[in-house]
Amino acid sequence: MTKIIALLIGLIMTASVCVSCEKVITVIGDKYRNFYEIYVGGFYDSDGDGMGDLRGVIRKLDYLNDGGENKNSLGVDGLWLMPVMPSPSYHKYDVTDYYAIDSAYGGMADFEELAAQCDKRGIMLIIDLVLNHTSNQHPWFLSATASLKHQPCGQDTCVYDDLCPDHNPYCRYYYFSDEKLPDYYETSGGYYYLGTFGGHMPDLDLSNPVVRIEIADIARFWLGKGVGGFRLDAALHYFEGNAAKNAEFLSWFTTIVESENPDVYLVAEVWADGGTLLQHYGGVDSMFNFPFAQSQGYIAAALRQGQGQILSKRIESWQSQLLEVNPNAIDAAFVSNHDISRSAGFFGGDTRVIKMAAAVYLFMPGNTFIYYGEEIGMTGSGKDENKRLPMMFSSKDAAGRPDPPNDADPDQVLRNLGIDVNEQLKDKQSILRFYMEAIKLKNRYPEIARGVVASIETDNPALCVFVTAYGEEAAYIIHNMSGENATVSLTGEFAGLKLSGSLAAGGGKVKTAGSHLVMPGYSTAVLKKR
Ligand code: CA
Repeated sequence: MTKIIALLIGLIMTASVCVSCEKVITVIGDKYRNFYEIYVGGFYDSDGDGMGDLRGVIRKLDYLNDGGENKNSLGVDGLWLMPVMPSPSYHKYDVTDYYAIDSAYGGMADFEELAAQCDKRGIMLIIDLVLNHTSNQHPWFLSATASLKHQPCGQDTCVYDDLCPDHNPYCRYYYFSDEKLPDYYETSGGYYYLGTFGGHMPDLDLSNPVVRIEIADIARFWLGKGVGGFRLDAALHYFEGNAAKNAEFLSWFTTIVESENPDVYLVAEVWADGGTLLQHYGGVDSMFNFPFAQSQGYIAAALRQGQGQILSKRIESWQSQLLEVNPNAIDAAFVSNHDISRSAGFFGGDTRVIKMAAAVYLFMPGNTFIYYGEEIGMTGSGKDENKRLPMMFSSKDAAGRPDPPNDADPDQVLRNLGIDVNEQLKDKQSILRFYMEAIKLKNRYPEIARGVVASIETDNPALCVFVTAYGEEAAYIIHNMSGENATVSLTGEFAGLKLSGSLAAGGGKVKTAGSHLVMPGYSTAVLKKR
């Protein structure tokens, strides 16, 4: 079955892509996608119980990708679901059963249908896999703590067999101690366990080969359910402060899943600076590009300063560093996610800047990740619950709109009323229509995602200019990251290029006038050889 699907994807992906038909380019079946991240509980509620669910995601798949021309669809071809496995928390990052769907979201049949529907539309479905820790309600942890015996262990820290005289293997799944260490929490029996993210999330000992057998089984199970890959949560914390061990684990996991299916895609969360990311990159397809994201990241900084030139240099330099540590690395650009304040807020609610940021990151090499609601300019900041508010398909009609998480601030919920998909679909100038247009334009030129980038310096520091080359194809990208008009002479490096597509985040239109390219403030031009 998996092989047939892989073959079909291969056939689709090797088909010729010819939209503007300047030149035919052949794309080899690969892992390059525009992903969309969904908090299932906040997306769409199919049965009116106030909780978003998997059938709700199925109901709204047409909005993401209708499998056809996507005239009223966003046009993404990847979907990342935040955790769907049973968990006592609303966000479900503390799993109690790795082999099931949380009943609040539906059942396994719903998941299988979602996977099949995604497959039909060419959407790669990936799920969050939380391996750093389990819930403290997971049967492994409950069994281990029931075996812990309080007895003196002498001068040294207890070895496991001292802690668990009955040799319960689950005692070795976690980090237990008879003394209070940093980030350790007390069990009811007077022992302590490591919980990097709190007492409800005991850390797994990922160096234990038996734990790894469990993990391999879990991965195979979900691949069998039709997922195309995994988003690996908290990979920075697998072995706290030990990048080499984290990287080893990521390589091991990659080998395991690729032995099942070489097309499986993995993206790891290492929420850290660029240097730390590079130390983790060796064996895994992708890592989220945190240095370019967030309110203080390179994209937001470049937009605040109206300085594009520095950004194109950073894009080139970052890509070359990635390819050096992993020739198959696929960057994973984004601006915000479920842990980060929503970008519309940190871009000051300025529609031009919100759109321009989208154009910039969607046109970076590699894969891109849109956080649900970002494409309509939803806001949310402060506590995590505020960043996971209900998706606003309609402001007027609350049918299908999930309840906000319990602790969300009511004023932040209210602030999103009036921002909605239905209204933005009717408005050609909306943020949503801009995202749709940007994704279409990007997909028209496969070299934008797949190419090797070289930054080009012009005499206007507001411009972010680079060429991205893939096989025999090359696209020249120019972003005007200031609010001022810019003129680019189509000579020298740009001689013989023609304007092949454009986006105008700030209104107006990118045009050629004689041998010049005239760009309004906040706009993007794609140029190709004639
Ligand atoms: Ca529901």
